[in-house]
Formats: sequence, C-alpha cells, structure tokens
Amino acid sequence: MKVVELKNVKKIYPDGTIALKGVSLSVEEGEFLGVMGPSGSGKSTLLHLIGGLDKPSEGIVKVFGKEINHLDEDELAEMRKRKIAYVFQFYYLLEDFSVLENLTLIGELAGIKNPKKKALELLDFLRLSHRINHKPYQLSGGEQQRVAIGRALMVEPKLILADEPTGNLDSKEGFRIFELFKELNEKGITFVVATHNDSLKPFFGRIINLRDGEIVTQR
Ligand code: ADP
Ligand code: ADP
Repeated sequence: MKVVELKNVKKIYPDGTIALKGVSLSVEEGEFLGVMGPSGSGKSTLLHLIGGLDKPSEGIVKVFGKEINHLDEDELAEMRKRKIAYVFQFYYLLEDFSVLENLTLIGELAGIKNPKKKALELLDFLRLSHRINHKPYQLSGGEQQRVAIGRALMVEPKLILADEPTGNLDSKEGFRIFELFKELNEKGITFVVATHNDSLKPFFGRIINLRDGEIVTQR
C-alpha cells in the first residue's frame, strides 16, 4: 500500500520563493525513507506537505490514499491527530510538566483510552522509567528527544515524519534515536526522515536527495 504519493508537486511561498519545483514521490507502507540535501533544498517543505501542515501550490499530495487538497479542516485535523506524528529538531516539550504528564496530556487530547497506562508502557519501552517525574530541563538532549518520540507514539501513528531529529544531539545520542526509529519501523511504522547528516545514511532503506527543490538522485 502507498502511504504517500506526490505527483509533480510545486510549492511557491507567498514571497515568491520556489521551495519545490515539481517533486514526484511514492512511499510504501513500512519504508524507512531518508530525505537528504543541504539546508534550503526543500526537505522541511516536503515534510510539511506530506503531513498536511501546508498545501501544495500545484500538483497532487495523497496520504493514506486521500488527496490532502480535498480534505476539510476537520478531516485534516483527524489525520494529524490519529495517523501521522511529527518529531522535530527541537523537542517542544511542555517545560512545566513532568515527562509522564507530557505524554498523558497528549493522550487525553487525542481521546485515547487510559493514557496513563499507555504512557507508562511507552516510557518503559523508551527506557525512561527512571525519569517519569523529571521535568524536561533535567534531561539530556537524547532523553528529551526520546520523550518527544514517546509523545508522538501515544496516538499509535502509522507514519512518522521526522525533521532533523538528531540536529541537536551528539553523534552517540543521534545513533540511539535512529536505532529506536528502526525498532519502531520493524513494528510496522513508516518513516520519512529529513536530515543533512551523512553519517546517518546507512540507516535508511531508501534515500532521496533534494537540491534546490528537486529530487536529483534516489537509491
Ligand atoms: P530545508 O528543510 O531543506 O532546509 P526548506 O523546505 O526549509 O528547506 O526551505 C526551502 C526553501 O524555501 C528555502 O529557500 C527557504 O528559505 C524557503 N522557505 C521555507 N519556508 C518558507 C516560508 N514560510 N516563506 C518563504 N520561504 C520559505
Ligand atoms: P547520555 O547519557 O544520554 O549521553 P548525558 O551525558 O547528557 O546523556 O547525561 C547523563 C545523565 O545525566 C543522563 O541520564 C541525564 O538524564 C542526566 N542529566 C543531564 N543533564 C541533567 C540535568 N541538567 N539535570 C539532571 N540530570 C541531568
């Protein structure tokens, strides 16, 4: 099954910047796809379009078989809440809340059953059981990113979009995050991960390289 399908997608921002110049791409269920390319090549824009955070100027974006342009705000919100999760370079954790609360609050918002039980299970899986009552500032960068991933997993997403998820981590922490992604990928979650870090290449099942808003090579 195709999770993502883009056909000749162009994105022109209101100030006239052409961020994507006609990108076509399919992502199959279960893939671990790397989106690589230098800063400014269009990686974030591509992820935003796949995640329904923004709309293409031209072309077609289909996610889970549905064309993003044809979904109303409620349908988009439902997709974002239930099927797609984001992981960013900055963790965007709620600083005044504990690790456990950061997860349970999301679970409550998404309306899942017994969010506390789910959160505790995930934090155990993420090897953060000893940190549940800590606040984000008390954690290392790698731990904060694991909390952010735990929060993403609360809604049992089918697709995870990660934008420079290791951008603020040292290489050891970064590798640990990718090992975790691989483990989740083996459980069936599809990944699209944008990074400009070449040392992470070996992790990907497939890579597309962007330059100036175009796919220049794939493998
Ligand atoms: P990357 O993630 O590879 O760094 P981006 O998708 O962020 O690339 O950016 C692609 C191009 O679009 C860049 O030239 C960037 O400056 C521009 N851009 C990104 N977001 C906006 C925006 N909101 N308004 C105008 N230009 C933007
Ligand atoms: P890692 O072991 O992942 O490389 P660090 O070396 O940054 O992480 O941190 C070692 C341990 O110290 C981690 O378990 C982390 O939770 C803890 N730690 C780091 N910074 C703080 C802090 N400001 N307050 C409390 N604990 C911290």
